[in-house]
Amino acid sequence: MTTAGRAAAAGESQYPSADSTADFVRNIATVRSRIAAAAARAGRSASEVRLLPVSKTVPEDRIRLAVQAGCRTFGENKVQEAKRKHGNLAGLDVSWSVIGHLQTNKAKDVAEFAGEFQALDSLRVAEALDRRLQSAGRGLDVFVQVNTSAEDSKYGIPPQELPGFLAQLPRYTAVRVRGLMTLATFSSDTDDVRACFALLRTLRDRARGENPDFVGPAELSMGMSGDYETAIEEGATVVRVGQAIFGARTLPDSYYWPGSDGRQESGP
Ligand SMILES: *Cc1c(COP(=O)(O)O)cnc(C)c1O
Repeated sequence: MTTAGRAAAAGESQYPSADSTADFVRNIATVRSRIAAAAARAGRSASEVRLLPVSKTVPEDRIRLAVQAGCRTFGENKVQEAKRKHGNLAGLDVSWSVIGHLQTNKAKDVAEFAGEFQALDSLRVAEALDRRLQSAGRGLDVFVQVNTSAEDSKYGIPPQELPGFLAQLPRYTAVRVRGLMTLATFSSDTDDVRACFALLRTLRDRARGENPDFVGPAELSMGMSGDYETAIEEGATVVRVGQAIFGARTLPDSYYWPGSDGRQESGP
């Protein structure tokens, strides 16, 4: 785990809250310099890594401050929350990335407002999305979520089923596969976390070797506030960072991932 992650596990409030544009500028600058350092350690360029700010639970007035600080895309775990914010902030030039598990009955909403969907984990959802997208006359960038931790509580395609899953997706022509996404294990052991990221990279490399058309640009969305530096060292091209930008969340992670209570709760 990173220093930040360990501090979180120890219950320290190392994620400073952001209540002004200047606070956001500062938090984002800190994250970006850590991204740059992690990329440098891996012999990569920081420009290969997209920072996706995750604004779940953050009220709209504070999201406006983040927009003033330069954020243009926000990640949201829950469709309903994302849809509400999309509607209320429609005047701003921002797009919404849905990063949490989707039920088929919400596919219509995602097809209407989302700029990206990062948690595709079933053919039923792919089919439902494609149907809605076709009738809306648009396409959507998606990431296939892979369960790299073998934890039952995690959503995602099991690694051994990934090749077969990817091979089915070309028939859903409005669903544009951009790459793979994962959540690492809820462990305080850096080696365990790193192994999840390394597995996603290996699966990506294998899929690309088998048929490059099935994984598109073959991006890797992995890493959050507690582990994004490790993820970048293992090849992440997208990091999804909430608390390190917006401040510690008080809502426990188990609200988003049933069964994840063991992970660091970093409330103040
Ligand atoms: C909340 C969330 C994140 C960001 O977590 P932080 O600890 O706030 O950085 C990343 N990915 C997903 C899927 C999430 O739901």
